[in-house]
Amino acid sequence: MNLILLGMPGAGKGTQAEIIQREQGIANISTGAMMREISRAETDLGKKVQEYLSTGRLVPDEIIIQMLVERIHQSDCENGFLLDGFPRNLDQAKALDQAKVEINLILFLKISEKEIIERMSGRRVHLPSGRSYHIAHNPPKIEGKDDVTGETLIQREDNHPDVIKKRLNVYYDETEPLLSFYRQKDISFYEIDASRTLEEVSEDIRNVISN
Ligand code: AMP
Repeated sequence: MNLILLGMPGAGKGTQAEIIQREQGIANISTGAMMREISRAETDLGKKVQEYLSTGRLVPDEIIIQMLVERIHQSDCENGFLLDGFPRNLDQAKALDQAKVEINLILFLKISEKEIIERMSGRRVHLPSGRSYHIAHNPPKIEGKDDVTGETLIQREDNHPDVIKKRLNVYYDETEPLLSFYRQKDISFYEIDASRTLEEVSEDIRNVISN
């Protein structure tokens, strides 16, 4: 099964992606995580990508599309994969079609902008693993520390309020049109109310996937 998770930044795609990966045994491909890893390298590309991340803009298609298509062709994707954060605009969606990448299921995690701002500003992450927490809704066992390694959690630069606003504008302008693009296609499309708890959302997703 190859699926795409759609939804505003902060809707909980990353958290649900981890659960789907664990339960379904499929590859979890997060282009955001790929970009953050690249940005940490002291290379020209790393520095360029970092500029986009820190200002909440989309990394240019010529950097991301080829990388993503190559990633999908790796052997761990043979049993299926989920895409978290890709496609982010119509050209990226069309690039998947052109590369003849088959998609079976779209899950749209729907949530209000107000809730997003509250959630994102409370989010903390463990950078090496990508595990994410929320200071109120999904706190780590020990404040400020990763549950598995005990290492320090950080607030991602792109979860600061001014960058959140910018990322939401980018979402409305570039990513939201994907909803009608995929609704018109012959692919199963499910809208999930992502304003509920992590467990409730994940239960819905489990039901959709098993049907
Ligand atoms: P995310 O973790 O998915 O919210 O992504 C964090 C940041 O990575 C975004 O704000 C973009 O700057 C970049 N990014 C992630 N996925 C894409 C994509 N498909 N196209 C362009 N930029 C992306």
